[in-house]
Amino acid sequence: MSTGLLVVGWDAATRAHLGSFDLPFYESLEASGTLLPEPFWQSREVDSGSAWTTITTGHSMWEHRIATLSGRVERPRRLKFISKFDHFIPRNLFDKPARIWLRKLALGDQPTNDDVPYKRVWHYLPDSLGFAVPLTYPPRRTDGVTVSGFPNPEVAVQPPELEDDIRERYDGEPQRKFSEEGSGAVRDGYIDDLFETHRQERDTVLWLNEQRDFSFQFVTFTLLDRLLHVTDPDNDAIQRAYETIDETTATLVDAIDPDDVLILSDHGMKHAPRLKWRHIHDETSGIWAGTRDFGLDTHLDVTPTILDYYGAEMDDERYEEPASNANTEEMEGRLEDLGYL
Ligand SMILES: [Zn+2]
Repeated sequence: MSTGLLVVGWDAATRAHLGSFDLPFYESLEASGTLLPEPFWQSREVDSGSAWTTITTGHSMWEHRIATLSGRVERPRRLKFISKFDHFIPRNLFDKPARIWLRKLALGDQPTNDDVPYKRVWHYLPDSLGFAVPLTYPPRRTDGVTVSGFPNPEVAVQPPELEDDIRERYDGEPQRKFSEEGSGAVRDGYIDDLFETHRQERDTVLWLNEQRDFSFQFVTFTLLDRLLHVTDPDNDAIQRAYETIDETTATLVDAIDPDDVLILSDHGMKHAPRLKWRHIHDETSGIWAGTRDFGLDTHLDVTPTILDYYGAEMDDERYEEPASNANTEEMEGRLEDLGYL
């Protein structure tokens, strides 16, 4: 068995940036286009937790209820009501994310993967890998392998017998740790750690591919998102990060030799310094690119399109097994560190 499709998530990869750097692998791809969020988020700063959940389940936020990495939709009518006028509120009010704060009035508890009743795309297909996709902690049982993504107290793996080997290779995302509370300052070494984590992620995926054969792989890298949040456009590390993720993708493709490749971003980024962030999410400049024309328009298209590639369908969409119990307190701690709470 060999891998049919390798999907590589380039979290926060931005159309304008991609055109301005020399990225040989990305440029070698046959087809590409803009990838927009689902309608609700098309005029709002889409959150990575909501975006990746829609991308990997094929269900709308109104069904899976993940509004943000830190909030579930618990009062859908209130959220719909707020969304009628939230665009009148500035995104940046005295340097505060006013619109995001307003929306929190309609959101509930810290979500975990336990709250998502719908199968992820890799759970429809046998012997598949889901790697570091945001909000997949704690991972569900699988006949393939799932490695949890941010936020997670520590990296968790299904099947559990692989967990020690994975943790030896991969620590999960580094903490950002503000040197002064509220100052937005980033600790020394954080950017180096982001690149080191990216290297660990690449090497862990390569190692997993030496252990097992996968029919489908969905791997996500958050390097660009984390880096752009803490840097201004003139920072050299941005170009280095795009070149690194392009090179990593080429390395994975060489090692795995999939039939097809699809690169996705959940949103782009734009420079608009605010509180603890330098770049903020741009819902209009996310991208897809692939070895063939996947014809994607929005996040909702991704899972059905991948299943269609394998001749499979979105049936029996819910997990049969009940979920385990996630530690939400520790997840909140990780989010707070990154500036989300
Ligand atoms: Zn993102």
